[in-house]
Amino acid sequence: MENQLKEQASNNRKRRKEQLDLKRSKKILVTREEASVKKSRVARMKRKEIIKQNKDKRRARTENSHICEDTNTQEPRSNTVSEEAHNNIWNFGKPTHRCQYYSALLWYEERLRLKVGTKRPAFGICCKQGKIKLPPRKKPPAYLDNLATGDGKNSKNYRKNIRSYNSMFLFTSTGGIVDKEINKGHGPYVFRMHGQNYHHIGTLLPEQGSKPRWAQLYIYDTENEVQNRISATRCGDGKTPLDPSIVSGLQSMLDENNVLAQSFRMARERFKNLDYQ
Ligand SMILES: [Zn+2]
Repeated sequence: MENQLKEQASNNRKRRKEQLDLKRSKKILVTREEASVKKSRVARMKRKEIIKQNKDKRRARTENSHICEDTNTQEPRSNTVSEEAHNNIWNFGKPTHRCQYYSALLWYEERLRLKVGTKRPAFGICCKQGKIKLPPRKKPPAYLDNLATGDGKNSKNYRKNIRSYNSMFLFTSTGGIVDKEINKGHGPYVFRMHGQNYHHIGTLLPEQGSKPRWAQLYIYDTENEVQNRISATRCGDGKTPLDPSIVSGLQSMLDENNVLAQSFRMARERFKNLDYQ
């Protein structure tokens, strides 16, 4: 009897333990379920949050594009302003005043004390009211002066082809690596070089079979110098051909006045005497 009671009590304990274990495992299951539900809820919230953020970003972009559109629509207005400004160009006419010190030509609107209207304006823009002293300009040789300022046929031809006449008397050419890529677009011509800009003067006499160029023209085959110079130059604008008499005149003028030309002529005499030609 006692044994039966003991067995019953032990069985009861076992059952309670089993029930407890079951309850505990159920609880664990529930907790796990809860955890997974919570996790999925958090994930859902995160997704929602991301979607909301994306929406906000899109909205912001759309608003910005509206702003851009607004500025775009304002552009024609600003164009109108610039057109107005363009139409309202201030034209001061020709400069009618002269600086009292060096006779520089000036506009009345360039005067000192702009707020004060006067019949005898003072100017500082040219020589700081006489403080900057410039040496008087040297008068060019008469032949050149006449070509540069005269009204005759030769003067007109000279001014029309002035770059050709200038380049045919150069002693050397410009040397360097010229960047030709820079002028591909629109806008004014740009001359850009890389590295050191210099040029060796080269030999005093042309190589066998070559035509004389630059300083060689002062030394070699000077009996035909005028024609050699014209041949060595790209001739003017085509409409107004270079005039041999002007070339000859410039040649004499330089021989008389230019120390470099005189030096090369001395070299020519040395070569002549030594019979190099
Ligand atoms: Zn002045």
